Amino acid sequence: MPQAMTKHPTDSARTATRLVNAGRRGEWTGTEGNPGRVVTPPVWRASTHLYPDMAAMKAESGRNEDGRFYYGRRGAPTQWALAEALTELEPGAAGTVLYPSGVAALAGALMTVLKAGDVLLITDNAYDPTRALGRGLLTDFGVETRFFDPLDPVAFEAAICPRARAVLLEAPGSLTMEMEDVPLLAAIARRHGMISIVDNTWASPLGFQPLTHGVDISVMSLTKHVGGHSDLMMGSAAAGPEIYPALRRRAQALGQVVSPDDAALALRGLRTLGVRLERESASALAIAGWLAARPEVAAVLCPMLPGAPGHDLWRRDFTGGCGLFSFVLKGGDAAARARFIDALALFGIGYSWGGFESLVVPVDPAPIRAVTPWPLAGMDAADRFGVRLSIGLEDPADLIADLERGFAAITAG
Ligand SMILES: *Cc1c(COP(=O)(O)O)cnc(C)c1O
Repeated sequence: MPQAMTKHPTDSARTATRLVNAGRRGEWTGTEGNPGRVVTPPVWRASTHLYPDMAAMKAESGRNEDGRFYYGRRGAPTQWALAEALTELEPGAAGTVLYPSGVAALAGALMTVLKAGDVLLITDNAYDPTRALGRGLLTDFGVETRFFDPLDPVAFEAAICPRARAVLLEAPGSLTMEMEDVPLLAAIARRHGMISIVDNTWASPLGFQPLTHGVDISVMSLTKHVGGHSDLMMGSAAAGPEIYPALRRRAQALGQVVSPDDAALALRGLRTLGVRLERESASALAIAGWLAARPEVAAVLCPMLPGAPGHDLWRRDFTGGCGLFSFVLKGGDAAARARFIDALALFGIGYSWGGFESLVVPVDPAPIRAVTPWPLAGMDAADRFGVRLSIGLEDPADLIADLERGFAAITAG
């Protein structure tokens, strides 16, 4: 199938144009001799792939690449189109592996680079299920996990020992929004012969390009921004030519495969990713600024907001953001925060983020932090009731009016 190996016409295009064209190869959107007849790659439901004859079966054996028919566990054009589109959007990537969830992608990346006896360093602002992978599954397989302060590169380097093999970063951390210096930490890791992995779900490669900043593996929960409509679970890991083949082999060994229906939905979400992130970021910034002036708010944790923690690093390294940020109520108690959240009509109460609709959850990281405190350094100990907002595509004026109702409910109680 030499046509599948030809360069796609979007190779030199800018990001917005790539989002429209990526993954739409003629042979995936048409028939043989009649390529590119529909816009979007159809859903190819397939376990068995058929060979025309024995010679073709023999010729294909050992050709383990996307774009080559073999068996359903290696995907078919719908999954290949999504993986190729993600690779086109990730500068420095040689390929992208799809997983059935973001957690599966993190597990797949970690299980690719670690073996028994290794030490894994995890940033203390990481997503809780990521921490659980280190403390649970990896510990059972003989890997030792240690946590480090995301804001202290000196402490990070001091935690590195000869057995340290990999570091897992998340910038900004998706609860407390602490922004680590990813290029610096990745450079330190590389100097010590370690592999760096970043959970880049918050920014997506539209807002931050990890592989061009010295990171080895870029992981995303596609459940969030790429899906974008709160109706699918998926994850991805992208890497350069040294690591991508190992990621792929390990994912295949673990039997990881995503359904073609979900891949088609993720591909649909990807087409509007740029405009959604732009709109959500602009609304989030307006709402974060409004919150910062409220007397009930002790701190706004939004790296996109000038003056907020992490803003300088965000401005230096990132080209975009998203609608997800947190804030901390001044004093109060859990009941006051519950009144605030319950009074909101436009924010759904639920886990996840990055959908077209706004969401809210309470933020209580104290019990999960390993080496750094909550409230964060510099915050008053009384100000510990956090709230995380995922700003969707509603009119921000309506969202602000909704939040005003929440604040009124605090005092009414
Ligand atoms: C949600 C999330 C994940 C996990 O993704 P799932 O698709 O829910 O498994 C990983 N990292 C971050 C930062 C997340 O918010």
